[in-house]
Amino acid sequence: MSSNAPVYDVVIAGAGPAGATAAYFLARAGKRVALLEKATFPRDKRCGDAWCAPALDLLEEMGVLDELEADGEVQWVRSGGLVSPSGLSFVSPDEGKRDGAPRVAAIRRRVCDERIARAAEGQGAELFEEAAVRDATFRDRWTVRCKDGRRFTGRCLIAADGAKSKIARALGLVTTGANSAASRQYIKGGTHNFTSDGVLLYPKYVIPGYVAFFRHSNGDIDLGCYVLPGGKVPPAQLKELLRTEVSRDPFVKEVLGDQAEPLEPPGISPLRLGGEKRTYGEAVLVVGDAAGQTDPLTGEGIHTAMVAAKIAARVLCDALDRGDLSEKVLAEYQRAWMRAFGRDFPLSAAAGRIIRRYPTLLDTAAIAAQRHGSRFMDEFGAAMTGVKPKSVFLSPRMSVPLGLALLRLGFGKGPASYEAGPRAERRRGFTFVENALG
Ligand SMILES: Cc1cc2nc3c(=O)[nH]c(=O)nc-3n(C[C@H](O)[C@H](O)[C@H](O)COP(=O)(O)OP(=O)(O)OC[C@H]3O[C@@H](n4cnc5c(N)ncnc54)[C@H](O)[C@@H]3O)c2cc1C
Repeated sequence: MSSNAPVYDVVIAGAGPAGATAAYFLARAGKRVALLEKATFPRDKRCGDAWCAPALDLLEEMGVLDELEADGEVQWVRSGGLVSPSGLSFVSPDEGKRDGAPRVAAIRRRVCDERIARAAEGQGAELFEEAAVRDATFRDRWTVRCKDGRRFTGRCLIAADGAKSKIARALGLVTTGANSAASRQYIKGGTHNFTSDGVLLYPKYVIPGYVAFFRHSNGDIDLGCYVLPGGKVPPAQLKELLRTEVSRDPFVKEVLGDQAEPLEPPGISPLRLGGEKRTYGEAVLVVGDAAGQTDPLTGEGIHTAMVAAKIAARVLCDALDRGDLSEKVLAEYQRAWMRAFGRDFPLSAAAGRIIRRYPTLLDTAAIAAQRHGSRFMDEFGAAMTGVKPKSVFLSPRMSVPLGLALLRLGFGKGPASYEAGPRAERRRGFTFVENALG
């Protein structure tokens, strides 16, 4: 390395939503940033492609959302709902843009991740593609070495290299492996029967995990299956689950129909859920999936990764300005992301354990949604997408309709059977078929 090689304020390993968002806010604050990405953009990332409100707010702030909308890449989730373990369902019709509805949109990661990285470049961050970080060592400054021999020097380091968390594990900050898994398969638009924007299925074979459909702006659907902690199927058996239960699932079969054309075989990637206990060290922070900042009830982690990245940028800017990058100062990062969303994770994990034990609770959610419609679903959606804390399930707006639905179930208006599929729904007059299937 030549002696006049730049010393960056921050070197970031990984240009997913976490790394690129951190790069954007650090560069915007005037810091010199190297953003290292092992792939070349546009690069794919296996995902349900569902971007929740906090992520959309940040995309808006970075000017990315407007660009994506102008290019027709955004499918707003305006109709959607859930199917319960007993096959009860509520799927709202598209009522257009409504006040109080939490914002969710389907946007392909292949497109959106690159736009965030380019927005960071626009603020002055230097993006290096095909820069796979091999190791990082700290002696007053970080020396980050890439597999192709390139070296980068930085005053601080952000590890944002995803759920396998190789860098944070090599540094001894994270000590465990990824703890869950999810799958994705794109199905070609025009070959399936799905006409809604987003539906979650909660069959007993996978709860507290779920099967999800999200529709893209060109009509393709993203079919995902999320195996979450506490379920009876371990992540290692997801491949088998896809081959057996998921492919036989009556709702999945009805959605796909006989003509569905998969655009790829189902692929599986790890999830790291629940938040790591220590995501900072001297002159280093761990952000996004690398830090396990993914909700244990939903497996959603884009918005939490981005919110944590903005916090990381603020904490590092303050520390760099003060000239103090000690662990004590950087511990503020852990406290701040815990305040922002991390305290919700134990509640999410507990909710997962409860619905695994009492799947009927999800039946009550479907019944309550049937009776109270979008008003109930807005609250449900807000808790599931990080807009409101999970404790909202205990608020009167949710607990009263859920309690009444439970009573109704007790008085014999109980569920049919999941295995009977959407046709049983049709007989019961539920709205799944009309609102979700063409
Ligand atoms: C199948 C599936 C479905 C999901 N669905 C959703 C969903 O619908 N909504 C949601 O909110 N969340 C979802 N998630 C979770 C979401 O994908 C993650 O929480 C999110 O990607 C976290 O962003 P990140 O930047 O931390 O990590 P990543 O997106 O994984 O980005 C890490 C980046 O680091 C790069 N990298 C890795 N190693 C190195 C290295 N050594 N050197 C340089 N670069 C490196 C990678 O190439 C990548 O670009 C899903 C996850 C899975 C697996």
